[in-house]
Amino acid sequence: MKLHPATRAAQALHHIDNKTGGVSPALELSSTFARDGDYQPRQSYIYGRDGGSTVKLLEALVADLDEAPAALAFSSGMAAITTLFEILKAGDHLLLSRVMYHGTLNWARHLAENRGVTLDLFDPARPETLAEALTPQTRLVWLETPVNPTWDVLDIATAAAACRNVGARLAVDSTAAPPCTTQPLTLGADIVFHSATKYMGGHSDLVAGTLAFREPALAERLTGLRSLRGTIIAPFDAWLLIRGLRTLFLRFERASTNALTIAKHFDGHPKVAKVLYPGLPAHPGHEVAKAQMTGGFGGMLSLLMDSEETAARVVRTTRLWLPATSLGGVESLIEHRKPIEGPQSEVAPELLRLSTGIEDVGDLMEDLAQAIG
Ligand SMILES: *Cc1c(COP(=O)(O)O)cnc(C)c1O
Repeated sequence: MKLHPATRAAQALHHIDNKTGGVSPALELSSTFARDGDYQPRQSYIYGRDGGSTVKLLEALVADLDEAPAALAFSSGMAAITTLFEILKAGDHLLLSRVMYHGTLNWARHLAENRGVTLDLFDPARPETLAEALTPQTRLVWLETPVNPTWDVLDIATAAAACRNVGARLAVDSTAAPPCTTQPLTLGADIVFHSATKYMGGHSDLVAGTLAFREPALAERLTGLRSLRGTIIAPFDAWLLIRGLRTLFLRFERASTNALTIAKHFDGHPKVAKVLYPGLPAHPGHEVAKAQMTGGFGGMLSLLMDSEETAARVVRTTRLWLPATSLGGVESLIEHRKPIEGPQSEVAPELLRLSTGIEDVGDLMEDLAQAIG
């Protein structure tokens, strides 16, 4: 029987502890593992920096949900990204989006300045600029969709075909579109990344990142790089992440319906110049999003306010929406993004980023309405 991924997630791959029968996985904290009488590892575990059984179960679950032969878990999203980017050497061409998660962009700039990697940026609002920027030296293309914090939607299948033409690998940052809604590998990507701190964990109580690979050989190489860089997830965080993943489908569905209701309600509000949300039919990426985000458009939206002053005021006046960074948790967060990203950021100063949680949508709307005034 082919089970729906929501079933596989809820049961953590029908996990039963083989010693105790426990339906919740054991938390394996050992940093080292004793060998057997023949001086062989009893299972495959040797040392904690290479992983233990809790991390292994998490990785099996992530690989399953991302429809990948292999997945790896890291101590943060940035730990996963910086470890992956170790595959680039001097002279390699790296292509990223001009607007996207600022940490990834800053790390790419660091590699360009210090390691001889050539860096180009495409414009996510004009997706054709991705294919135009590809060269025979392009080794890796990093595509985030929906793009944080404008929520432009990029067509993964089209980008994958263009990358294949020049022999470049396509990596998709699917943090805002977790596996319950988008399957980048199935759409042709080579690597899928999640900041598991966000929707995958879902409770704002852990920092982690995951990579899933189409090529087992690349997963193998990254396993080695992760051991050397020491960027593996800690067992307790892995345990919390398994726990979070069991409710991923439920949480994402609720956040998506909440966000769509809010987006529709504030679209046309006198103090809101524009609502940026892929679920709105007028959004330029709506058609692609409908095809690519099959489990909902997610809880992330941005409001372009009538002025920077309004944006600055709203984040100081909400009572329910928490003024904090990050996203994808059960609690709703609001953020005035430009001051966070700094002067070189291209984000509009009047932009408010909203991470819609799973609370009652009436309460969320009432609070937002009183704060906007
Ligand atoms: C948060 C985030 C990251 C970085 O992940 P951390 O877990 O914070 O290290 C990368 N990409 C996106 C889209 C993010 O939101």
